[in-house]
Amino acid sequence: MSTVLVIGAGGVSSVCVHKMAMNADIFSDIHLASRTKSKCDAIAASVKERTGRDVTTYSIDAEEVPAMVNLIRKVQPSLVVNLALPYQDLPIMDACLEASVNYLDTANYEPKDEAKFEYKWQWAYHDRFKQAGLMALLGSGFDPGVTSVFTMWLKKHKLKTIRQLDILDCNGGDHGQHFATNFNPEINIREVTAPARHWENGEWVETPAMANKVNFDFEAVGPKNMYLMYHEELESLAKFVPELERARFWMTFGDAYITHLTVLQNVGMTSIEPIRYQGKEIIPLQFLAAVLPKPETLGETTKGNTNIGVIATGEALDGSGEKTFYIKNICSHEAAYEETGNQAVSYTTGVPAMIGSAMVVTGKWSGDGVFNMEEMDPDPFMDMLNSDGLPWTVEELDGPVSF
Ligand code: NDP
Repeated sequence: MSTVLVIGAGGVSSVCVHKMAMNADIFSDIHLASRTKSKCDAIAASVKERTGRDVTTYSIDAEEVPAMVNLIRKVQPSLVVNLALPYQDLPIMDACLEASVNYLDTANYEPKDEAKFEYKWQWAYHDRFKQAGLMALLGSGFDPGVTSVFTMWLKKHKLKTIRQLDILDCNGGDHGQHFATNFNPEINIREVTAPARHWENGEWVETPAMANKVNFDFEAVGPKNMYLMYHEELESLAKFVPELERARFWMTFGDAYITHLTVLQNVGMTSIEPIRYQGKEIIPLQFLAAVLPKPETLGETTKGNTNIGVIATGEALDGSGEKTFYIKNICSHEAAYEETGNQAVSYTTGVPAMIGSAMVVTGKWSGDGVFNMEEMDPDPFMDMLNSDGLPWTVEELDGPVSF
């Protein structure tokens, strides 16, 4: 039985809070704070209607550390769950240290003025969390999050070492809009317009954004083009699976998405350099995000499935030589919407955020310091994926990937 304080009231938060409410034995008291209180109230109303549970709401600017500290002291949670934006990671971690409470997030810190997400800023908090006897768990979404846990489950149960790793993230959903992103547009566009990077023979190999394309036949979706990208779990996987010879991340994009993005990029709308407009300084990408459909409004119209998984090749644990395994989850947009009022991209992130929170508050995962998902026992997390909405399958493939 524990009290949690969730920060942020977007799609991911909405799913996480609904799923926390459905696990009353673990999360006995749920508090939700965000910049716009009305969004917290809307989530609380939906949770009440669907589960009968109460969620207490507040307005907060999470970048104001003293205000955050006051809120944490008032609520007295055992865990602060950061589901706001990556820019708020460090101020929320500062507030957790000052108010002496554990921390969890789903995305690593990114400075506002530089489209560069890296763990180094948050890893630098390790000693402070350790000395305070507190735990910070980083990246408890799907990717990062479940993809890291999938990899460590394969290392625990199937493969002694992993030589090659490919993460395949497919969203086969159709939202009926010309152009929209499935999670925060600003963060999403910063991610997909950055150069691709993968890990090979002990170093990072950089290639231009969207330059490497492979057609892959995804179960429950069909054939889709997926593109080589940089994604944050590659950094922690390269650190915690040191024997990796190659690790890559692939994400599917439709032709219409690529065409829109190319035009927007060519005309300068994805830039994060401030410009002056009618006497005011604006950032083109933030303006673009403001005119695009809000991800939380896409749920009702999105149809189809997501299919996200990991293909790993390495030395089998049982000594039977080299083996390749494919472990994945398929999630239906319609089912996710039916259960929580949000589409599957929010669902596949919000459920692991709830599960990571459950791991911390029940003590199944513990430690003093800053931790990535790869450092924890995958088994109890994998059990909850099965019981709480994101069931997974594992199969042996004939051999390593040919792309
Ligand atoms: P949204 O943009 O929908 O929601 C973000 C929320 O954070 C909004 O409610 C926003 O408030 C709030 N917020 C922003 N700034 C502040 C602030 N200074 N103080 C308090 N609240 C603030 O994002 P999503 O729900 O789509 O994503 C949430 C997080 O999940 C992001 O960090 C994203 O990168 C991450 N993510 C992780 C994935 C994974 O698999 N690991 C996948 C998808 C997302 P307001 O409503 O007022 O704007």
